[in-house]
Amino acid sequence: MITDKFGRPMHDLRISVTDRCNFRCRYCMPKEIFGRDFAFMPKEQLLSFEEIERLARIFISQGIKKIRLTGGEPLLRKDLHLLINRLVHIDGLEDIGLTTNGVLLEKQAQKLKDAGLKRVNVSLDALKDEIFKSINDSGVSTKHILKAIHKAKEIGLEVKVNMVVKKGMNEQEVIPMARYFKEHEIPLRYIEFMDVGETNGWDMKKVVTKKEIFHTLLNHFELEPIDSSYIGEVAKRYRYKGTKAEVGFITSVSESFCSTCTRARLSADGKIFTCLFASGGFDMKQMLRSGKSDEEILEVIQKIWGNRTDRYSDERTVQTAKNRKKIEMSYIGG
Ligand code: SAM
Repeated sequence: MITDKFGRPMHDLRISVTDRCNFRCRYCMPKEIFGRDFAFMPKEQLLSFEEIERLARIFISQGIKKIRLTGGEPLLRKDLHLLINRLVHIDGLEDIGLTTNGVLLEKQAQKLKDAGLKRVNVSLDALKDEIFKSINDSGVSTKHILKAIHKAKEIGLEVKVNMVVKKGMNEQEVIPMARYFKEHEIPLRYIEFMDVGETNGWDMKKVVTKKEIFHTLLNHFELEPIDSSYIGEVAKRYRYKGTKAEVGFITSVSESFCSTCTRARLSADGKIFTCLFASGGFDMKQMLRSGKSDEEILEVIQKIWGNRTDRYSDERTVQTAKNRKKIEMSYIGG
């Protein structure tokens, strides 16, 4: 198993399958920047399913156990279930999940499940329609996403819900979201607003920290901590006392977890990134398309991971957040 400069193994891989999205969330892909004229990746630049599978096999041979498909919006990629089916058959892969905004999930859920998908994380930032629509800026209602969430659960997918909380955007939805998903026993994860990319107007003042959300929750519920289920688990989890329902926090800003970060990322055009906050990646597409052997590719991956020193969230200051050039989340894969 390879480890990086700080002894961190490579354990999970996020694969972005497209940089396009059918939402224009204000904090991620604001319309003013990702408008009609925005140059998304041309189709021929995207890795094919064969290319993704080939790279995944090499990654898995080096210790990757978990894969999560993301984007952009991964369900916009045509026939995604076919990719899932290729990946689940690779020896050594233990887990495959998908992160989606849920718009196309109801239609595709059964196909995805049949292809071997186990888990799906659905992003939903508010229950109140008005608030949700003002965030996604695409006119999609909460009802539509909730239907998809329930359908996915009904057919046996393990479902979690992700909610980014940002000051002035949706703090008032923290409790209604908690109540709803507690009642339906669907784990809800509150995500701190992060300084990914350059276009989302990030400001520390807009971050609602885990501590603040936790205290709000304690005014309404009794919570008890749950031990993490594996090393490198990102969410800090709690159970509502006396129930099976749980809630969690992704605290990338207020309590960084770089020291246990075992995650590599592959962008839709075949670049490897070793951190969500990276300024650049390593192009694999060129290698894949110029006849290099698996051994040659493997050697490069080993070198990339072996040289990894990223710990951006540990080192974040107001200055680094402002000055560092960062890749957009929709490009690198959320
Ligand atoms: N389209 C899919 C979705 O909506 O889940 C996958 C990609 S999206 C970039 C992945 C997740 O990143 C979503 O839950 C989204 O809310 C979250 N996200 C985007 N920008 C963020 C930011 N600046 N801080 C925290 N989370 C963010």
